[in-house]
Amino acid sequence: MLSGDVIEPVRLFPLRYPWAYAHLQQAKRNSWFPEEAPLHDDVRDWQERLGPEEKHAVEMLLGFFNPMESLVTTNIVMAVYPRLTAPEVRLYLARQAWEEANHVMAFEYVIKTLPVDRERVFNLHRDHPAIAAKEAFQRRLTEALLQAGDPADSVGERQRFLFNLVGYFVVLEGIFFYSGFALALAFRRRNLLRGLCSLVDWVLRDESLHLSFGIHLVLELLGEHPEVMTAGFSRRVKSLILEAVELEENYNRAVLPRPVLGLSAGELNGYVRYIADRRLEELGLGAHFKAENPLKWLAAEVDLPELVNFFEARNINYEVGIPRT
Ligand code: MN
Ligand code: FE
Repeated sequence: MLSGDVIEPVRLFPLRYPWAYAHLQQAKRNSWFPEEAPLHDDVRDWQERLGPEEKHAVEMLLGFFNPMESLVTTNIVMAVYPRLTAPEVRLYLARQAWEEANHVMAFEYVIKTLPVDRERVFNLHRDHPAIAAKEAFQRRLTEALLQAGDPADSVGERQRFLFNLVGYFVVLEGIFFYSGFALALAFRRRNLLRGLCSLVDWVLRDESLHLSFGIHLVLELLGEHPEVMTAGFSRRVKSLILEAVELEENYNRAVLPRPVLGLSAGELNGYVRYIADRRLEELGLGAHFKAENPLKWLAAEVDLPELVNFFEARNINYEVGIPRT
């Protein structure tokens, strides 16, 4: 998947990676457009029902999601797509890039519709240290690849590439975003911001697929290049994930200095540790925190039935993994 002519036109069949094609077919069924979610009631909620702490939490959420969705798009187009040559993988990445652009448009739509201070929300990713730190974490991974060579050339380059995939598909899309979804859906539990929460549902459905695709991709690459899986590399992958958990915990403490809608930073961070463990397991690294999910109500919101069916029907076995240390 890493070597081959990078400008060879697509010749799809016979498929070499049927899981990638299955993800593409599912992605097509998930199509949506931001304006399909009316925000009139959300505007009224904002004006009449939300207090300053709740507004602060929503602004922090928008101030993180909006720029990060565009970073994911950039990373796919500039760092990931040029390095993978399998046609079905490239078709999925092209579709995902469109979805990420659609997510940017969805958050732009919310920011321009709700009576928030747009300039302040747009600038949070630079002005707020907890958001800036998460952005710096992601940028570092993209910049490392922009200066890198071809992953077909050496083990070190392949490790660097896999590090980027873990940092984006597993950390950003599978941990940072899930923590944000949990916060957003706490509003719907109180019957608030239902339009925004519909958008979050659709983004979440897309992100579940991106995460699943990313895990399949990482495991497939590890299967094709087992020499990459040194004990040192698996330690670095694990510490990347643990570093991300710390960044997310700091961010959540800034989002929720006091509990909002019955949700505290401590509980949300318990959920972050719980999903970080799931991601570590999916990569074959073993759970680290071994914590229960403190947000039991979230399971029903996040485990969309159609996705569960999809994964049960088509998931590969995660028999390939990084050795535990
Ligand atoms: Mn996205
Ligand atoms: Fe995504």
